Amino acid sequence: MQDCIFCRIIAGDISADLVYQNENMVVFRDINPVAPVHLLVVPRRHIKDILELAAAEDGLDLMGAVLRALPEIAAKVGVTQGFRLINNCGPDGGQTIPHIHFHLIGGQKLGEKLL
Ligand code: 5GP
Ligand code: ZN
Repeated sequence: MQDCIFCRIIAGDISADLVYQNENMVVFRDINPVAPVHLLVVPRRHIKDILELAAAEDGLDLMGAVLRALPEIAAKVGVTQGFRLINNCGPDGGQTIPHIHFHLIGGQKLGEKLL
């Protein structure tokens, strides 16, 4: 999708600080980090949000692939003491880019919890 920023990053049209990639996803640093480590885990396929992922025939496979990649990603950026994984869904969820992604945030002891 030409008008999607994340599709353009995945296609290499826009540069990003890539930390990990495989056949299903790319992982790069957020341009506006809220913590010392702030990654975006982005499935390569243009899926709008987690609800669309849930509805996709192979949605659970893709979700599983993200989960399975987490240990390697976490080790790579050295978040050995833990991290937070966040998905914002839709306008009320604070999603600003309509291409599914997970924020992996860490590198410090995180405060301020909603839950
Ligand atoms: P959302 O608000 O949709 O959950 O998250 C979108 C995230 O993408 C934001 O944290 C924002 O800082 C990040 N972002 C927006 N544009 C770019 C970009 O061009 N490059 C990178 N690396 N991150 C971006
Ligand atoms: Zn996209």
